[in-house]
Amino acid sequence: MSVIQVHDKKFETFLSEDVIQKRIAELAIEIARDYTDKKPLFIAILNGSFMFAADLFKHLQIEAEICFIKLASYKGMKSSGKVVTSIGLEEDLFGKDVIILEDIVDTGKTLHHFLPKLEHQQPRSLKIATLLHKPAATKFPLTLDYIGFSIPEKFVVGYGLDYDGLGRNIKEIYQLSS
Ligand code: 5GP
Repeated sequence: MSVIQVHDKKFETFLSEDVIQKRIAELAIEIARDYTDKKPLFIAILNGSFMFAADLFKHLQIEAEICFIKLASYKGMKSSGKVVTSIGLEEDLFGKDVIILEDIVDTGKTLHHFLPKLEHQQPRSLKIATLLHKPAATKFPLTLDYIGFSIPEKFVVGYGLDYDGLGRNIKEIYQLSS
């Protein structure tokens, strides 16, 4: 087990690069099977999902579109609860098969509040793919269609996820040391 320091906190190995990559390849196969000939539009939520989105998209063997939007501000180690759209969605979703790509679903508040805005545009279908899910923390009703890993209610960094701005470039996922 390796331990790293990000700002003032120590984190220990949780998911290796290999484990993450294998699971993402599996998800890409599953999604490709469900969306054959549908040309889905992926909406990746920045900042945290940029690595997941890039790797999933590379593995995807069907035609698909992708765009990136920015929604939430997340300060420190607790969800701020504030959802802010700072980069707007330019694509027209009407009649499209849309898949949201999220790095992690914690309380579920972010997506729960954002989904109606997308549904308003009448996509043909709307699904969610999240790399990580903390089921014990999820308080807002949400259907998660593709889940990479269900994880305990502990703060994680790496693979796109940050702790106060740092840690996004780590290839593995680390968990806060207890
Ligand atoms: P939710 O709205 O589901 O409570 O929170 C979603 C957002 O909170 C995620 O997109 C992510 O930015 C942030 N978040 C939740 N849990 C963690 C965590 O363990 N580590 C990091 N780095 N961010 C988290």
